[in-house]
Amino acid sequence: MLGDQVAIVTGGSRGIGWSAALRLAQAGASVVAWARSADKLAELAAEAKRQEVAGTLETAVIDVTDRAAIDGGIEDVTERLGRIDILVNNAGITRDGLLMSMEDDDFDQVLTANLKSVFWTTRAVSRHMVRARRGRIVNISSVSGLSGNAGQANYAASKAGIVGFSKSVAKELGKRGITCNVVAPGFIETDMTDRLPDQVKDSYKAMIPLRRFGQPEDIAEAIAFLCGPGGAYITGQVLTVDGGLLT
Ligand code: NAP
Repeated sequence: MLGDQVAIVTGGSRGIGWSAALRLAQAGASVVAWARSADKLAELAAEAKRQEVAGTLETAVIDVTDRAAIDGGIEDVTERLGRIDILVNNAGITRDGLLMSMEDDDFDQVLTANLKSVFWTTRAVSRHMVRARRGRIVNISSVSGLSGNAGQANYAASKAGIVGFSKSVAKELGKRGITCNVVAPGFIETDMTDRLPDQVKDSYKAMIPLRRFGQPEDIAEAIAFLCGPGGAYITGQVLTVDGGLLT
């Protein structure tokens, strides 16, 4: 389905990004997964090999808060693989805390890792996509960015920012054959949510109509859909994948 297509997935060393990188490689794409943890990325590459994915899966240690590293990573991909068709901006962090005690650093770090990084990668990749007159960009937001969440003012601001950013990019680049959409996950079982107290998890589960937490694969399927033939005429949209939480 995605044969011949080159994809970059940020934050591929764990959780949703890990699943998305594998899913796109299973669909035949040549995937380059980025993250900071070299050992985890090596595990991802080994898993792709073990699964004998239809495409290929390479990795690169890139910190998305480092603009020079991003530019270098994109140059490397275009030089070696010749193109970039798909960009999945998935890397993200939380530094939760109540507003009154939130430090400047907690705000700045989250905004840089979750939002400014998306600006940097999208700007750099768009230059190649515009020349090719094709491209699919999928940015990972969160239900927190759509409805807000106590204790996550910084995170919710970054994720809401992704929505406005993506809709603007969709309007700007649509005429060049490039789509830009958002996937907004609900509560997905990954390292990010693992650290929440059981009491908080139970209260979330009770609010989810499907009565289960999502798995990284649930999000990877939505990403693959938007990058595949089904996503050809969809742009500027937010696809909420949350078991009905926000309904
Ligand atoms: P996770 O398990 O904590 O994984 C986060 C990924 O981002 C890791 O691969 C991490 O890799 C990477 N990352 C973080 N900072 C980075 C940086 N500066 N440079 C490069 N990579 C970086 O989180 P997840 O749950 O899979 O979340 C993935 C995305 O979905 C995030 O944007 C998150 O906000 C969003 N989301 C998650 C949920 C959920 O319930 N889990 C819900 C809504 C939205 P390294 O540490 O190796 O760099």
